[in-house]
Amino acid sequence: MKTVNDYNFKDKKVLVRVDFNVPQSADLKVTDNSRIQAVKPTIDKILNDGGSVILMTHLGRPKGKPSEEFSLKNIVPEIEHVLGHHVEFCSDCLGEDAQNMTGALKNGEILLLENLRFYNEEEEGNVEFAHKLAKYADAYVNDAFGTAHREHASTAVIAQFFPKTKFFGLLMAKELTAIDKVLKNGEKPVLAILGGSKVSTKITIIENMLPAVDHLIIGGGMAFTFVKALGGSIGKSLVEEDKLGLALQILEKAKAQNVKVHLPVDSVIADEFSNDADRSEVDIFDIPEEWMGMDAGEKSRKLFHDVIINSRTILWNGPIGVFEMPHFSEGTISLGDSIAEAIELGAFSLVGGGDSVAFVKQFGYEDKVSYVSTGGGAMLESLEGKELPGVKAIND
Ligand code: AMP
Repeated sequence: MKTVNDYNFKDKKVLVRVDFNVPQSADLKVTDNSRIQAVKPTIDKILNDGGSVILMTHLGRPKGKPSEEFSLKNIVPEIEHVLGHHVEFCSDCLGEDAQNMTGALKNGEILLLENLRFYNEEEEGNVEFAHKLAKYADAYVNDAFGTAHREHASTAVIAQFFPKTKFFGLLMAKELTAIDKVLKNGEKPVLAILGGSKVSTKITIIENMLPAVDHLIIGGGMAFTFVKALGGSIGKSLVEEDKLGLALQILEKAKAQNVKVHLPVDSVIADEFSNDADRSEVDIFDIPEEWMGMDAGEKSRKLFHDVIINSRTILWNGPIGVFEMPHFSEGTISLGDSIAEAIELGAFSLVGGGDSVAFVKQFGYEDKVSYVSTGGGAMLESLEGKELPGVKAIND
């Protein structure tokens, strides 16, 4: 893996693709700057070498048209704050101004180009557009893990114009190393915890992970499809009727590959999908007709705890209950605690993809796990075993 640490950028202008697609408030202030913080080490490395940085990113979905709402001008103060450095802003990523400003950039300076998605050519992966951007710089760095699963002009296509001077940023390197640590060289026993709502969205991940893991915990809404397939009564719980056969096939495949599957054994149930619903706790194979499973019960938490603390490598994707509702968040909290305990015992844990990341941030577990991925879709596609276009473009 060729990263920015393998090169000295002295006197070089470096185009750095970042993912500053940050959440904003109604008055367009940045509400979470973690994506900016995440790329600071890469930017610092280039500046400390004596190079200059041209930042490019997208923000939101402006659909090929410039707009105030999606202008990167609004986030410049927060970028300056996080980087602790002045940032020049160019109000277009192409055109005369961009050419002049990139041309005049001096060592030690940072320039931010306006939203790439103000041009349709970005998402179309247009080669000419990529070539125009490429002309600004001597080197190209991709540190935008969050968009690495897209074959866009600035995330993949542009790399061909830097055959010898294209590099992974340090965030990309960290993400890719974390994935490899689970899928390729994880210390055994390796455990994957898959929760969330639907089997259908996780099926490729499960299949891809089977050869890599020793244990698989299946929790959350998708567990009920497995329980029903095994003959359980699940009441009104979430189920994908057309995936019952598939669920049985997965269990068979797991068995054939010596993967031990752990399903919940009990469930916190509710009489309606609401935080204020009446609650009870029952055997997961025996949920009354008008009730639905909302969270892992006490026995399941204990079962999962024992598997987790005996694992050395843990991947976690998806909550195991409706954690958005306080009365049904206890199972996911207990799971987070068990993972934290495993970390103290020396395990490695990667939290990746969507709602488990939201959970970890909201409930303060970020520092209690080994690595929290910054890329939802990119992480899911990696776990599915796909080679990300943004990664391939640098490796080729
Ligand atoms: P996903 O995006 O597939 O990872 O699913 C995340 C969602 O799964 C969260 O919004 C949870 O509320 C939901 N979820 C977890 N457990 C259950 C459950 N038992 N019933 C319904 N939804 C659930």
